[in-house]
Amino acid sequence: MNNLLLPPTEKRKQYELHALGLRDFAGVREFEALDPFALAEFAKLMVVDFDQVEGLSPESRRQLLGPAVAEWSGGACSRPLPNGWRIVILNPAHGTHRNRATLMEEISHVFLGHQPNRLAVIGRDRTVGEGAALARDYNRADEEAAYAVGAAALVPYCALRRMVFDARTASKIARHFRVSQQLVEYRIKVTHLWADYKRASAAR
Ligand SMILES: [Zn+2]
Repeated sequence: MNNLLLPPTEKRKQYELHALGLRDFAGVREFEALDPFALAEFAKLMVVDFDQVEGLSPESRRQLLGPAVAEWSGGACSRPLPNGWRIVILNPAHGTHRNRATLMEEISHVFLGHQPNRLAVIGRDRTVGEGAALARDYNRADEEAAYAVGAAALVPYCALRRMVFDARTASKIARHFRVSQQLVEYRIKVTHLWADYKRASAAR
């Protein structure tokens, strides 16, 4: 039997297997970039443009896109629509690359069967008025798992490892998978490829 190439730690192996399952489901090949927007519909998540969100006062809107813009990345609304779908709002100021990671995390929550444990308001206390969009929060372990699985689905270990050994830069790898450079660096670190990456960059 062919041995699947997985990251070294047990926790990462598990995350990677979930991520590979998601990639398989999406029908993407080993080195192909995954499109979370195409996967979202299978998780019954409807991505809604921030401008279309109702119930936000002009001040809240300004706050969320101004002073508080770094404090939220997006999330799924708590209450499903009558047809069972849930709305996801992404921070339009964060750009597509970060939005893809945020959406992928929400998709992972659904596919991993996470149950939200409490209500959270998008943004911080006073930044959002009454009747603002509510998002569900998950417990810490579920948050970690969903983020990690989402990131692994976007930047799978096997392809990442090959690219690292081929001395590709994190920014090149990021462009290939259409994610942020930070996400690629995070993946290189958590999968224990950082030393190889540094060695390859020194030899570049
Ligand atoms: Zn989450």
